[in-house]
Amino acid sequence: MEQKLPIYLTKRDGDLWLTEDERDNLKVSYRIKEIIYHQSSPFQEVMIVDSYDFDRMLVLDGIVQTTSMDGHIYNEMISHVPMSIHPNAKKILIIGGGDCGVAKELCKYEDIEHIDMVEIDELVVQACREHLPAVSGRLADSRVSFVFDDGVKFVASKQAEYDLIIVDSSDPIGPAEVLFEKSFYQSIHKALKGDGLMVCQSQSPIFHSEVMKQTSSRISELYPIVKQYTAVVPTYPGGLWSFTIGSKQYNNPNPQKLKEKETKYVNEGLITSCFLLPQFMK
Ligand code: SAM
Repeated sequence: MEQKLPIYLTKRDGDLWLTEDERDNLKVSYRIKEIIYHQSSPFQEVMIVDSYDFDRMLVLDGIVQTTSMDGHIYNEMISHVPMSIHPNAKKILIIGGGDCGVAKELCKYEDIEHIDMVEIDELVVQACREHLPAVSGRLADSRVSFVFDDGVKFVASKQAEYDLIIVDSSDPIGPAEVLFEKSFYQSIHKALKGDGLMVCQSQSPIFHSEVMKQTSSRISELYPIVKQYTAVVPTYPGGLWSFTIGSKQYNNPNPQKLKEKETKYVNEGLITSCFLLPQFMK
């Protein structure tokens, strides 16, 4: 008997298509070669599929999170840009980030002593380590400590502990909704050291401008320095994606920090030019 497909997977003329329901009037379909992994966790439906144009993709509840083809763009930009601003980040917290791509990028810095990665869903980490090596690099670095818990609960218990906190969340629906709330940003501020900084993905400047503005205004209430930057990620709605930094002390990126790091997207020029915003974002 054929396995029942979730509503976002359909067969058309013998081909399998994954359709991401972006919004009422926008749906994006990817032609799929094969379903590699499919399990339900208590939090979401976790799937890894092999697609024609983006190779392997992590899909949570029907939403594409990262792919072998363009995952490096997002993961490098959310990691190396804040690392270039903090002169001496040694202890880092990642909230979310189950595909392990952010932790993989951070492990390129020998000076980092410890990374706590707090992911609510252990199944995402297992699936990506095994079936999405282009993104996860099958991460195994003794400096990374995995905690499978709610990021909100974890960060609320910390005080002045981290140099850098990276919020690598999924969209603000389901388990990640709380990762966009004001009280969560307040806990992050408390968990950072006196010269610490945080960065989060703040969604599409085109389709989610209200989330982006709200993130910027919530972070501005807490930090003297707030900076937004962008990157183009083809599998995210609209392509253009925003990131928001809140910093207690450090302001300027130092491109030298990127020297001799092996990257595919970010380079010394982009470390500073990513802060040049299009007119409508200003
Ligand atoms: N780069 C991707 C993007 O922007 O779409 C998202 C990366 S990662 C897959 C997001 C992770 O956040 C998911 O694995 C999800 O399980 C995790 N997550 C969602 N809510 C969470 C929470 N409350 N605490 C910790 N992790 C959470």
